[in-house]
Amino acid sequence: MSGERREGNSVSTRLLKFRSPVLAGWEWTVHDIAAQEPGPHLCIMAGIHVNEVAGIEATFQLVERFQNELRRGTVSIMPVANLPALPYRSQHVCPIDDKNINFSFPGASDGTFSEALADALLNEWAADADCLIDLHGGDLCENVARFTVAPMIGDPAFDDVNFALAAAFEPEIIVKLQPDQLNKPGRSCSGRARQRKHAAFAEAGANGLIDERSVRFHRDGVLRVAGLLGMIETEKATPEHEPFVANEYHWVQAEVDGWCSYSVEPGESVVSGQVIAAISDYSGNILRRVAAPADGRVLWRCTHAVVEATTDLFGVASAGKQS
Ligand SMILES: [Zn+2]
Repeated sequence: MSGERREGNSVSTRLLKFRSPVLAGWEWTVHDIAAQEPGPHLCIMAGIHVNEVAGIEATFQLVERFQNELRRGTVSIMPVANLPALPYRSQHVCPIDDKNINFSFPGASDGTFSEALADALLNEWAADADCLIDLHGGDLCENVARFTVAPMIGDPAFDDVNFALAAAFEPEIIVKLQPDQLNKPGRSCSGRARQRKHAAFAEAGANGLIDERSVRFHRDGVLRVAGLLGMIETEKATPEHEPFVANEYHWVQAEVDGWCSYSVEPGESVVSGQVIAAISDYSGNILRRVAAPADGRVLWRCTHAVVEATTDLFGVASAGKQS
């Protein structure tokens, strides 16, 4: 990175209100950084899941980095999107409607709070953004690999850009979402893809803790995206490793209540049928051996030993079918 301070970059912090009456009374803190030279517009948000604090911490560091390093264009940074979740430290959901905003995009202005917020984020705050970046990872009971998600729409020119944005984070794993998955509500990047707009989506972190490696992954990934867009100068990247590129995302549930012992960690390779966890009752009898659903990599795992039948234990990425 250039250490040179850019003179004349203005930073303004505002409280953003949205038009939907469903969102009335709420104000989102947004930091806007503008270079003197015009250029692309980049929007960055975190805190759709408020315990995924490495991404939130990265946004604070990015305000200062862009103030110093932005050469052209404008950056808008929203540290916490899911404001109603803050006082409750809600896991996964927005407490107003108990919905997961992360799977509510593109949303609807006349929908529930989560749906109205998803719509407002896409169609008001980030409507004219050249890229929207959404930072996640590490809710209270999960450990997440450093991975990114890249929606594919079936147009190579568009898809290559989305893949390059995902690769700019230098992740362990890139999950390519297939075009047929865009028909149902999804992540912000999927909502953007339905509009033929670019986005990046990054996950890293564990257990509601701020760890430097995850913060760095988010922060430096955003800066490399800004470099790709020509907004800052970045040094030539030399990734530590090639990412594992996946075309399928599998969710693995516990299926029984009990005490779970996990035997693989995020980022590890697994083969189909490999036992990746065992669930016992409280007398020590094994109730279920949990098998990997496919050859691939572990995206994340639950970190709590106490599980219910409906608990999501693992995300596993597999090469699957090519887009
Ligand atoms: Zn999340």
